Amino acid sequence: MRASNLYAPTLRNTPAEAEIVSHQLMYRAGMIRKVAGGMYTFLPLGWRVIRKIEEIIRDEMDAAGGQEVGMPILQPSELWEESGRWAAYGEEMMRIKDRHGRDFCLGPTHEEMMTDLVRDEVRSYKQLPLLLYQIQDKFRDERRPRFGLMRSREFIMKDLYSFDKDIEGMNESYQKMYDAYTNIYNRMGLKFRPVEADNGAIGGGHSHEFTVLADAGESNIAYCTKCDYAASDEKAALAPIPAAEEEALPLEKVETPSVNTIDGLVEFLGIPAQKTIKAVAYQTDTDQLVLAFVRGDHDVNEVKVINQVEGALELRMADDAAIEAVGGCPGFMSPIGIKDGTLILVDPTVMNMANAVAGANEADHHYKNVNPKRDFTQEGIVVTDLRMVKEGDACPHCGAPLTMTRGIEAGQVFTLGTKYSKAMGAMFLDEKGKEQPLYMGCYGIGVGRTMAAAIEQNNDEQGIIWPRAIAPFEVVVVAVNAKKEEQLQYAESIYKECRQAGIDTLLDDRKERAGVKFADCDLIGYPVRVVIGPKAVEEGQIEVKVRKTGEVFTFGRDEYLTKVQELLQTL
Ligand code: ATP
Ligand code: MG
Repeated sequence: MRASNLYAPTLRNTPAEAEIVSHQLMYRAGMIRKVAGGMYTFLPLGWRVIRKIEEIIRDEMDAAGGQEVGMPILQPSELWEESGRWAAYGEEMMRIKDRHGRDFCLGPTHEEMMTDLVRDEVRSYKQLPLLLYQIQDKFRDERRPRFGLMRSREFIMKDLYSFDKDIEGMNESYQKMYDAYTNIYNRMGLKFRPVEADNGAIGGGHSHEFTVLADAGESNIAYCTKCDYAASDEKAALAPIPAAEEEALPLEKVETPSVNTIDGLVEFLGIPAQKTIKAVAYQTDTDQLVLAFVRGDHDVNEVKVINQVEGALELRMADDAAIEAVGGCPGFMSPIGIKDGTLILVDPTVMNMANAVAGANEADHHYKNVNPKRDFTQEGIVVTDLRMVKEGDACPHCGAPLTMTRGIEAGQVFTLGTKYSKAMGAMFLDEKGKEQPLYMGCYGIGVGRTMAAAIEQNNDEQGIIWPRAIAPFEVVVVAVNAKKEEQLQYAESIYKECRQAGIDTLLDDRKERAGVKFADCDLIGYPVRVVIGPKAVEEGQIEVKVRKTGEVFTFGRDEYLTKVQELLQTL
């Protein structure tokens, strides 16, 4: 490919709407253009990156036994009625009607379609396991499409679905996909972590998010400084913190006028936050009141709260009236004095506390010397991990300190169990001739989001720094002054040699100023730049620059190709 023929309109300025670096750089490097909110066109350079990511994914899916299929994007509502998700999916689903008034959606995911594909024809355990996948556009009418390819409304996803005869088989398929994902992100040259994830509304079994480490990430992840434990903050399980042995003193009510925050208590009573108990009252979307208690210096993890309430999907802060109805006093709350039968969640660390301070369920009053094991006697108390992880907490696997980082969820793997097969009647006959539901798993990778994540992780002031495996071109050969015929000829011959050696090469033969071309090279982020100027033409000295390190080498005509190949191996 010659740059003089390439449609890659680069910009020096950043478009106002691009908030994060990947969006800005893809725009400026002429890789994407916006069509409408959350919808983008890929220009040739951007599309080359997408194709390279897809090829790596395809290769690993095939190696793990996956088979690629091609499915329609348009999905009939009947299939979603069967699984119960036509009503449940909500506003994210893009729905349309055909001319006869029949309902369809633009596929946000394909569990129903895949289950439907296999249910009539997979009849025997001998046909299992079966792993089917596709790479295709998905549609989700996100509440806030933003950050370019990171959260768009139409986006490319690889989605694979596994079908097995039992739980063991399902777990083996899960492991195969976990390993394949690990290979994919390694091959792309990205720093990532598979983190234990909340299984969310999809239900059942385990899940990992493959998270590309980058500051702009929406996920907070906690990882161990010693072992390989990593989990999203929503999921990180935490062991109870022990408290020093203390003799339990008698409960004492004290006046604390208008002191209704932990900070206020710490100041008013001159005690550390670790000696206080924090109360948070929620109401679920199912209108259940939940009172949650953690140590004063800890925060409540709302996902852990939701998981304790059957059928609940969302939480909001409880109304004062709802709190008062069960005997609670907003701002001065503890479990003591709350009506029996109220759902009270207490973090196990709180249960270890001795002589703590907690609300007295009376305005402007707290109790001192609260000993939860002695004083929390209400019916309905559930002791369960509620705490939000923070830097320095102990790793649940090995006890070493956890550290926090931000990351971008680029892929996710799930076991689904029999949720869809039972709902949609996808059965097979086992070894004994008995009818059984298929055990399923689903495995997604956002192709565009992975591209954006790669840029978030690899960039500098000048532009993108592509890992070689997914760069739009591996090498750019720049004719410094393309108006000079000798330089252009020389660059042409270098370009041909590189291509013959199997290197994905671009020839920058544009009759632009050298400065403009070099700035474009840095912005677009080709891993290796080969410069052909007078020194090459006259002395056979070829300048090679590595984008990532900024190193500049000069190689002779006979050795440059091997050297470039060696450099590429490291990028
Ligand atoms: P999120 O929590 O970020 O909304 P999700 O968990 O709903 O994502 P999945 O259903 O697990 O997403 O989809 C698989 C992959 O598809 C994600 O890991 C992500 O890479 C990608 N993806 C999901 N939603 C979008 C989107 N709106 N834009 C771009 N990529 C997306
Ligand atoms: Mg996900």
